[in-house]
Amino acid sequence: MYMYVGIDDTDSKEGMCTTYICSVIIDELKYFGFSIIDYPRLIRLNPFARFKTRGNGALSFKINIKSEEDVQKVKEIVLKKIEELSELEDERTNPGVVFYRGEITEELRSYSLKVIKNIISINEAEKFAKEIGAEIFKFKKGRGIIGALAAIGCPNTDKTYELLTYRIPQNYGKKRQIDYESVFEMNRSTYPETFDNVDSKSGYIAIEPHTPCPILYGIRGESPEAVLDAYKMIKVHEPIEKITIFETNQHTDMHLVKTDKIEAIEKFKCYIIEGRVKDFPHTREGGHVIFILEDESGEIPCAAYEPTKEFRDIIRNFVHGDKIRVYGGIGEKGTLNAEKIKILELAKVYKSQNPLCECGKRMKSAGSGKGYKCIKCGFKLREDTKDIMEVKRNLKEGFYEVPPSARRHLSKPLVRMK
Ligand SMILES: [Zn+2]
Repeated sequence: MYMYVGIDDTDSKEGMCTTYICSVIIDELKYFGFSIIDYPRLIRLNPFARFKTRGNGALSFKINIKSEEDVQKVKEIVLKKIEELSELEDERTNPGVVFYRGEITEELRSYSLKVIKNIISINEAEKFAKEIGAEIFKFKKGRGIIGALAAIGCPNTDKTYELLTYRIPQNYGKKRQIDYESVFEMNRSTYPETFDNVDSKSGYIAIEPHTPCPILYGIRGESPEAVLDAYKMIKVHEPIEKITIFETNQHTDMHLVKTDKIEAIEKFKCYIIEGRVKDFPHTREGGHVIFILEDESGEIPCAAYEPTKEFRDIIRNFVHGDKIRVYGGIGEKGTLNAEKIKILELAKVYKSQNPLCECGKRMKSAGSGKGYKCIKCGFKLREDTKDIMEVKRNLKEGFYEVPPSARRHLSKPLVRMK
């Protein structure tokens, strides 16, 4: 027999993080003789949901049980640790825990996908849990039950792995002592089996969080073996309390919904949408680059924000008529935040210039409506015709993506696009 345990919304602004609580719980369960089946799962939910935890990640794991006594013991350990470790005084921390002993059914999978692509209410989650016989525990508002249930049911048809290392509590909040050169070395020998751990172009190290949380670093990769190999190559100058490898839906584009009409787009969801660039992109204060994407049904502003760095240079070169496909999510203001784009077809751009003279010199205008005159040989041309020339575009068709430093957890990097 087995049971699923789902946990969410225990992150706090002081830096507590659900992955850590989950790791501690698993260690505690193992200490009491329980065994975990497969890898624990870190499931990222809709990044544009209004109420969400910091990384919007929910956790789940599957555990072997032999008796009703086991079930009670597991519940007791899990709930006690959550109570102990989550910072419940933080108003944004509203943990939820779900215990489920059934099969992962089609309706549970659809529920999960709905939470990943949409927004659902606590009431809806609670109602669904009752229907399928899952047992829920809410701390405070208990918003975490939404994601906890989704983490249990998420169909990881495509998946990646993340190995997280945790610091000893005395070091929380202190500067992380990671040997950056060893991280680059690791990347050189394991990429693309590991990915998004460094940004080679800018020299940015992406494995290190920017919050005071218990995580020392996280390595992303295609398999448990790959992230474990990478872990062995990274040198640090501080103790590591524990490591946990999670199976995740990170970097799978699972949050994106394909749509063929701009007018059908709704706020707080993520899409793959094709259209044409309506006008020249403009740069706003703060370095954000905005353009309008249109199709027969409507138009929508698209943005490459400042943190997307060199990705903005691609966007800046768009002209009216460029046909592109945008992958991204819609925030509060109704702007589509581009995570990556595919240029499907570049519009032709022309410029007109004065004709060339027979002697090879570019002719001068002889005045409005009077044709052209060559200043070198004196040749005159009556007709007022200009040479129309196609201008070479600074862009090539194909995919472009934001750098790893600006990548959303769910966004699939090009190196994973097959
Ligand atoms: Zn001439």
